[in-house]
Amino acid sequence: MRTRRTIAAAMSVLALTAVAACGKSGSPSDSAAGGSAAPKAPTYQVKSDVKLTGSQTFDAAKKRGHLVVGAKSDQPFLGFEDLTAGSGASARSGFDIEIARMISADLGFDPNTIEWKTIASANRETAISQNQIDYYVGTYTINDNRKKQVSFAGPYLVAGQDLLVAKNNTTITGPESVKDKAVCTVTGSTSIDNIVKYGAKITKYDNYSQCVDKLMTGEVDAVTTDDAILKGYAAKNPDKLKVVGKPFTQEPYGVGLAKDDTVLRGAIDDALKAHEDNGDWKKAYDATLGLSGAPAPAVPALNRY
Ligand code: GLU
Repeated sequence: MRTRRTIAAAMSVLALTAVAACGKSGSPSDSAAGGSAAPKAPTYQVKSDVKLTGSQTFDAAKKRGHLVVGAKSDQPFLGFEDLTAGSGASARSGFDIEIARMISADLGFDPNTIEWKTIASANRETAISQNQIDYYVGTYTINDNRKKQVSFAGPYLVAGQDLLVAKNNTTITGPESVKDKAVCTVTGSTSIDNIVKYGAKITKYDNYSQCVDKLMTGEVDAVTTDDAILKGYAAKNPDKLKVVGKPFTQEPYGVGLAKDDTVLRGAIDDALKAHEDNGDWKKAYDATLGLSGAPAPAVPALNRY
């Protein structure tokens, strides 16, 4: 018993040291990024004396002393929370998380002080419009319908909807072949709207990882959403899962923020541009999404509407 407690204590000291070490740099933990040989996400220089006159979101964050950022927590290499890592910045990893961190640094807030809130696809517009978060970075497709309730900076990546199936599945080869098949996707996503017309039997959950669990047990034939998300799950289970590889939509990812906070939107667009131009975007990609096997695509042009 005593030995076990000693080992547990030693392990928690080690874990704390790791958190402290990573916490300083603003990088994800090595374990989350795939091991010590894996490429490292950049560190971001925190700007000082940032002023965003006219942004209510920024004023509220200044008063509070830190940013509150919405993200996903179950999407490997995109927005992931390592629940075994304990609290602290290093528990979150992924490309979306890096995007959120670079923006934070340019707004003058240390990325290690971000208060993260996990928000599912269906709850994003509510979380943003009710000011529960300052901005949201989580595979969030920019579209006109959503623009009625929120604003978007970006895009910072363009994904495309695809299908995830069992490794030995030869019958599902694209959206045309899902008729009468059991396909799982997520409530409040563009993925659900896009698959309906193909005549699949749709099962829906709040999170994609719940769909992946159902695919692993054979309760559904496929999971559908953006290829960037699906590649992460496939990379975590390469012996059991594969992505079909025929994207059938375009999903430009934006940073969601309060509707008509044009000052904040401009500042986030500026931050994205600066980190794309200085190479951070590419480094962050290689250290996160790149680990799921997909090389970095071209950076999309910002749409400063
Ligand atoms: N990008 C799509 C969307 O914004 C699907 C991924 C997601 O649900 O986050 O709905």
